[in-house]
Amino acid sequence: MLSQYSRQFAAQFSNQLKRLQSTLVIAEHNNETLSPITQNAISAAKKIGGEITVLVAGTKCGPAVEKLSKADGVKRVLIAESDAFKGFIAENVTPLILASQKQFNFTHILAGATAFSKAVLPRVAAKLDVSPVTDVIGIKSADTFVRSIYAGNAIQTLTANDKIKVLTIRGTNFEPSSLEGGSAGSEKAPEGNYTSDLSTFIGQELSKSDRPELTSADVVVSGGRGLKSGENFKLLYDLADKLKAAVGASRAAVDAGYVPNDMQVGQTGKIVAPDLYIAVGISGAIQHLAGMKDSKTIVAINKDPEAPIFQVSDYGLVADLFKAVPELTGKL
Ligand SMILES: Cc1cc2nc3c(=O)[nH]c(=O)nc-3n(C[C@H](O)[C@H](O)[C@H](O)COP(=O)(O)OP(=O)(O)OC[C@H]3O[C@@H](n4cnc5c(N)ncnc54)[C@H](O)[C@@H]3O)c2cc1C
Repeated sequence: MLSQYSRQFAAQFSNQLKRLQSTLVIAEHNNETLSPITQNAISAAKKIGGEITVLVAGTKCGPAVEKLSKADGVKRVLIAESDAFKGFIAENVTPLILASQKQFNFTHILAGATAFSKAVLPRVAAKLDVSPVTDVIGIKSADTFVRSIYAGNAIQTLTANDKIKVLTIRGTNFEPSSLEGGSAGSEKAPEGNYTSDLSTFIGQELSKSDRPELTSADVVVSGGRGLKSGENFKLLYDLADKLKAAVGASRAAVDAGYVPNDMQVGQTGKIVAPDLYIAVGISGAIQHLAGMKDSKTIVAINKDPEAPIFQVSDYGLVADLFKAVPELTGKL
């Protein structure tokens, strides 16, 4: 009987604790559209419990704000529009997050684990004198998190004792939260002079592609050093077009200059977890596996039957890629 009471008490206490939390999610967007990782981050914030506020910093970011105001589970959208946020440079976004934190006293500050947050959140954590918890793949409670360490070779569960928890989450481990069904209030983020003299945004050249974005594609076809040249990647583009897939690459292929580095999958590249990952001419080094081994189905094409990629693949084809890939594309 006593243990039943203590279980009830523990459940009530945990629910009350959840309600006391308030999380600031940093939105990633291009003013018009939201990066899918923002929805994954909202989903992670829901697991923490309590109120969710999303910060949108940008220039003419009305469309992104509008989408977030309808996002399920979001209580408030904080809007900061200024030329200071052109290019989303970390030096300017950091003081805005700190000012928002000062005003609202969030218990958690959270963003997706992306190049953007990797530049911003460590600065925020340092200024708040707390330790950032990065690459979170699971949330056990408001202070206990599961994260991936040693390039995905070990899983760590830790309790963070800092008063404010600063987290980056792996998008592939949290289902995207719906952008419908909510009715968040919106208000201006704290005003301030956020223009830093440490760095200035000059411009950016974004690669344009009609193919799906690598980190959110359902199917990814990746090529490695086995492709032997950038021109030969055409074989993979043809296959990808048939499958409506994104195209990725190993670091060896990127380092050799076959393809640009925004296509790199792995520990120091992008983390992907599509329904189908086809690795072509990739040996399967642990640093590559760290970026794709959570894919639902893995297919490997490699001429070496001993290649480690076959240990993680669901379907393996020992074959010369220059013969197998055109054949596969032809059959599709
Ligand atoms: C700190 C650190 C971080 C790293 N981060 C990353 C990362 O993020 N991502 C990443 O990918 N790597 C990363 N690496 C590099 C990693 O260790 C490997 O060197 C790299 O993944 C190898 O790429 P690859 O499989 O394309 O090349 P290789 O290992 O050279 O493999 C090429 C494969 O192609 C096969 N092949 C060749 N010709 C054919 C053919 N005609 N038909 C079929 N198969 C063929 C070969 O059998 C071989 O298995 C990192 C390394 C370090 C030290």
